[in-house]
Amino acid sequence: MRFPINNVLVIGLGLIGGSLAKALKHRRYCQRVVGYDRNTAELEAGLALGVIDEAAHDLRQAVAAADLVVLAVPVKATDAVLADISTALRPHTLLTDVGSTKGNVVAAAEAVFGSLPATFVPGHPIAGSEKSGVAAADAHLFERHKVILTPTAESSAEATLVIARMWQAVGAEVLQMEVARHDQVLAATSHLPHLLAFSLVDTLAAEAANTDIFRYAAGGFRDFTRIAASDPTMWHDICLTNGDAILAQLDRFSAGVEKLRHAISSADSQAMLGIFTRAKASRDHFSRILSSSAYSQKQHSAAVSYRAQQGSALAGQVRLPGDKSISHRAIMLGSLATGITRIEGFLESEDSLATLQAFRDMGVVIEGPHQGAVKIYGVGLQGLQPPPGPLYLGRSAMSMRLLCGVLAGQSFDTELTGDASLSSWSMEQVVRPLRQMGAQIDTADGCLPPLQIRGGQSLQGIAQQLPLASAQVKSALLLAGLYASGTTTVIEPAPSRDHTERMLQGLGWTLDRPRGQVALQAGGQLQAARINVPGDMSLAAFFIVGAAISPGSELLLEHVGINPTRIGLIEILRLMGADITFDNATEVGGEPVADLRVRYRPLRAIEVPDALLARASDELPLLMAAAACAEGTTWIRGIGELRYGLDALLQALVAGLDELGVEALVGAGSVCVRGGHIGGGELSASGDYRVALAFAALSLRASGEVHITECACLEAAFPEFVALACQAGFRIGKERD
Ligand code: NAP
Repeated sequence: MRFPINNVLVIGLGLIGGSLAKALKHRRYCQRVVGYDRNTAELEAGLALGVIDEAAHDLRQAVAAADLVVLAVPVKATDAVLADISTALRPHTLLTDVGSTKGNVVAAAEAVFGSLPATFVPGHPIAGSEKSGVAAADAHLFERHKVILTPTAESSAEATLVIARMWQAVGAEVLQMEVARHDQVLAATSHLPHLLAFSLVDTLAAEAANTDIFRYAAGGFRDFTRIAASDPTMWHDICLTNGDAILAQLDRFSAGVEKLRHAISSADSQAMLGIFTRAKASRDHFSRILSSSAYSQKQHSAAVSYRAQQGSALAGQVRLPGDKSISHRAIMLGSLATGITRIEGFLESEDSLATLQAFRDMGVVIEGPHQGAVKIYGVGLQGLQPPPGPLYLGRSAMSMRLLCGVLAGQSFDTELTGDASLSSWSMEQVVRPLRQMGAQIDTADGCLPPLQIRGGQSLQGIAQQLPLASAQVKSALLLAGLYASGTTTVIEPAPSRDHTERMLQGLGWTLDRPRGQVALQAGGQLQAARINVPGDMSLAAFFIVGAAISPGSELLLEHVGINPTRIGLIEILRLMGADITFDNATEVGGEPVADLRVRYRPLRAIEVPDALLARASDELPLLMAAAACAEGTTWIRGIGELRYGLDALLQALVAGLDELGVEALVGAGSVCVRGGHIGGGELSASGDYRVALAFAALSLRASGEVHITECACLEAAFPEFVALACQAGFRIGKERD
């Protein structure tokens, strides 16, 4: 069925009806916009103000001539208007409305028509103002605002499409929702705040003396109560038409206020801080969604690319953000410890904030982060509480893998979800051994997220030989081991990062660590401590390679973690001739740290020793970038022994190097790179931050511009990347689609 729209009739020419009519006219959506209102003064004003082309005085006649009828009357008037017009509607005339509640509008239509017409598509623009009447009509009111359509089971797809296009024509973004869901969501997000504003102003105004309060009210009061100036009749109607959903929200709110009241009356600082910090985090998150600038699903799908020109020699000193792996673990273990853990140097990235939010959702009070400082009120091993919903971990595979271990041992059920990229990562390496310990974990097909973790299981320690070295799998098992009976032993073919072991020991848990394995005995406690997170080695590696390949460079990287399991790349580069020294070496909270000084010296190709490669697996892309700038052909063997999922990474690297004119060949378990001239070109980081770092480092030596796409992952992992790189001498700019 086709619905050509020549004549639009708007019934109810107030703020919303008038604004829609004016916008449709303004955008020349149809040939004629006709208005009808029971208030003839409004109607005449609409005509005089150019809001409509024509004023209708006979409603049924106007309906019979319309191709599209929009009901924009107060929701309580819907029944009467529908009863009036139902028999005048032609079979192909579309019918929609703008009412703030939808259940009652659909019920009214059902009562009037008997069965709902296919041409009826209810809607609700999420736009408005405190004004009413046609004089307030604004042709731009709906631009960049959402409109929710709630098509019924009977609404035809074509009719829904035409109504959606009408709203898009006036600049709105159209969403669809079921009728009942709409009324619940709006009760929480719109109706409840309006009613609270009305009630607050009414309560404060009740005492004459409180006129003073209004006189001296600060901006906060003004902001909070602005919406109490909305149309009282409309809100009266909304309360009557969406009463059940509103009452449910008022009850939830009352329980929340009661909790706060109790916290204040009993001077319970921790409970108060819990409420305030959780609320602040949620509000900040919400602000970022609104400005779509950081931790949100929208951000995850936004495309980020870097455009880089040949840089100069790197110079000066750089203080890097905190280590990613240690930041995640500090939140987890600090939450499970008894007492207050203070973290300094916490990495404020989307990924580590996802871990932080997960623990807040499980009832842990966490203050900050503020300039890298975080304060955690640890709840002890048994103190986590059931989260109110699924724990959303964005793109952070590290959060998901490690949390699996913690959550397998809880008394309550949890669900772990992530964005599209995380949802394509197999969790099998972690889930399989955890199940052997007695964990109950359900996954989507292919062992993909979301993961449902059943609580209340009794876990049993196991001795697990890992087929490939993996710090994340090892850590998940050790974290589950905190809750298991007996001993949990992990045996690795090669050493992987040992940050979990060091931090567990730092917080007072005794581990047995003979060479190549770690054994954790159940029954211990974690005690809160200060955790000073050193600078991140993965990012330091980028600057180290940059200074090592860019002639004339001398760069100082301050306070970098030099954990022996992480410095394989430095040792390999030294074999290639790089000049890298450690100054001020010391130990902070069990982790060795130093200032790293890197001076340019020409690199020569080598055969990379397998033992060193095992401690540089994350830095393989940067190693290949260094090899591309070395004299001769560098051979990297033993790649097959490294870790899972390297094929896609190598493919992306080789394709990019090829684009830059660098010869690189991948064989069975090995790769070789011939050093030489580096050109420019269009490269894809394929959503892997390690690949993005390698290509960005090569831009220093590139003869042409290097454009690297699919870099949102690097942005999520290290938000300060571009600023720090430019500070050191790179010429890199960020572009966002
Ligand atoms: P408004 O400015 O008061 O306009 C409503 C108009 O409809 C008035 O001119 C009113 O005339 C007229 N009217 C009332 N009953 C009628 C009837 N039986 N037949 C013909 N006309 C009638 O209200 P509004 O703010 O535009 O709200 C209209 C609809 O939009 C409501 O359903 C509301 O829920 C929805 N909405 C409002 C907002 C907002 O922020 N305002 C936002 C989204 C959706 P009288 O003056 O004689 O009553």
